[in-house]
Parts: sequence; C-alpha cells; structure tokens
Amino acid sequence: MKIAVDIDGVLADQVGAVLEVIEKEYGQKYCKNDVDCAHWTFGGRELWSEIGRLLADPEYTRSLPLIEGSQQGVKQLIHHEVFVVTARRPNAEEATKEWLNTHFPCVRDYYHARTGTKHHVPSDVLIDDLDFNIVEFVKSHPDRRGILFTHPWSINDTDIEVYSDQVFYCSEWRSVVKAIDDIDYGERVPHQTSKC
Ligand SMILES: [Mg+2]
Repeated sequence: MKIAVDIDGVLADQVGAVLEVIEKEYGQKYCKNDVDCAHWTFGGRELWSEIGRLLADPEYTRSLPLIEGSQQGVKQLIHHEVFVVTARRPNAEEATKEWLNTHFPCVRDYYHARTGTKHHVPSDVLIDDLDFNIVEFVKSHPDRRGILFTHPWSINDTDIEVYSDQVFYCSEWRSVVKAIDDIDYGERVPHQTSKC
C-alpha cells in the first residue's frame, strides 16, 4: 500500500516547539490543549503564520522535536510504500529533508501539497492531523482511507463523520500502526458476499 504521512503534528511536534518559542518571544505561556482549532490565534496573531515564519529558519527546522513513537511507528510500516507529504513552504524544504534524513532515513519520497490539494496525493492512505485534509483525501475516492492523528486542534467543523467507514482516529503511533494493519488486512481479504 502507498501511505502518505504528514510531517507537522504526525512526525514532528511542531505545535509543542512553536509554543515554546511563543513563550520566549512574547512571554505568553500556552499548552497544547489551548490550541483547539487549526486556525488558532493568540493575542491577534495566527499560529500558522508564526510556524511559517519559524520554518524559514533552517536551524529551527533542523531541531524540531519528534512526535512520541513516530520513529518506531514508521519503521513498522516500512514494508509499505511510505512517503511524506507536507504543505510546508519551499523555503523550508532543504532543512526539512535534512531533518527527515536524520530521523527517518528510510523514508525517501517527499511530496509537496498545498493545503486544499491533498486529494492529489498519490496514495491509498493519508495520515494527517487535520480533519479537512483527511476529508478532502477520502472523499476523492471510496477506496481511500484516512487516519486522523488526533490532537486538540484536529477537529474543525467538517463533515468527517460522513466518511466514518473510511476514517480511523488515532491519538498515538501505536494505534496508527494497528489501523494500517487493519486496512491492509481488509485489502488482502476481500469482503465475502453474504449468502442467505
Ligand atoms: Mg499536519
């Protein structure tokens, strides 16, 4: 199976890192639970803009911390075709690739997809931490499966529940690996048609 893995919020603890910088730079302390939507703002500033600004600094990008269990989880999926997909801007690409080489040397392919274009991702499965990306991906084909890596900011008033037979909700890497196993098993053992 082809599995596309988002970077921020799935492999890299981007929100954890940016909240630390916000505390240092603006003296405002927040925790992840405060970040309750994708377009979260603090003191009139957009979190996404802060992340974009910080990612332009290669030193910041190269030193991003990992999401717990992500290295082990990706290793367990390596018999599939695993590649990363990210909406990070091109100015962060070089440092992002260095970071990936350091932490995920087995993951080779890198696919750039702007927000709003995740349905173009050439994959059977998408693992992402934002519901609108998952919805966009699974609604484009009934055989596609989405794994929503859940954080406090993952649910953003989409109609994701409409696609409940295509979507898995996972809050940690261990359950991501299990969901992939379940999807893979479903692929290999076609549904039996029930006979009366
Ligand atoms: Mg993300």
